[in-house]
Amino acid sequence: MSVLFEATGLVLSWKPFRESDRSYSAFTREHGKIEFIARGGQKPLAKLTPHLETAAEVRLLLVDGRQYFTVAGADRSRGFHPIYQNLTKTTLAQNAFLLVDLGTRTHEIDEELYQFLHDWLEFLSELPEITSERAGFLLASFALKFLAHLGYHPELNDCLVCRSAIAEGNYRWHALKGGVVCQSCFEKDREQWFAARTIDDVTLKLLRFALIQKFAEQLRPHLSGNALTSFHETIESFIIAHFPVIPAVSMREACKHL
Ligand SMILES: [Zn+2]
Repeated sequence: MSVLFEATGLVLSWKPFRESDRSYSAFTREHGKIEFIARGGQKPLAKLTPHLETAAEVRLLLVDGRQYFTVAGADRSRGFHPIYQNLTKTTLAQNAFLLVDLGTRTHEIDEELYQFLHDWLEFLSELPEITSERAGFLLASFALKFLAHLGYHPELNDCLVCRSAIAEGNYRWHALKGGVVCQSCFEKDREQWFAARTIDDVTLKLLRFALIQKFAEQLRPHLSGNALTSFHETIESFIIAHFPVIPAVSMREACKHL
């Protein structure tokens, strides 16, 4: 027997499924991430796709079948028009949501995460024209906040071992352990920390800023070439260390041609 249910959500990703169907992943307020399919044959996909494949908050009517959830209806409860009229904004929305899709499991309700994703779309809607460097920085900031939300809150202030507060210089970043280690703790146990690499003060400041400050504030920091490269490397290493699946394209690469 099939059961109908409703959910309000944000579509994270979609792909073709079988011959004429499509499969979607959405983060919903009521059920966390869910996956469902839209049948090409029965209900015209053309009617659903404008709602499911643009940045929008959608109300979904779903059928809980034996094998899959199938979408029976979808309409927008909130469209984010400025996003899908702009390539930079669309790129930022899609790549961030793809990351969320890779980093979450289905049916784990998380209202805070839902709000975080909603805030991201709100922020992108209002975003002025930005450079590709800024776009990459924003996407990586999103990733850092998202990882922290998942429980991988990086330690950027105190040494992971001795807990002494960070002074200028001589700190090393360890992606798997999720934070920084001071030079003297590193010297004491090189074997344990062999994967830790040096990180400069400007990069650390940028990471702290990205982690703590709101999205709107992320338009402010000056982005110098070296620190930005190191900033990206640090966050990419953090994703590689903790994600079940690694995104095919780096965040910097995704924004390169914007
Ligand atoms: Zn230490």
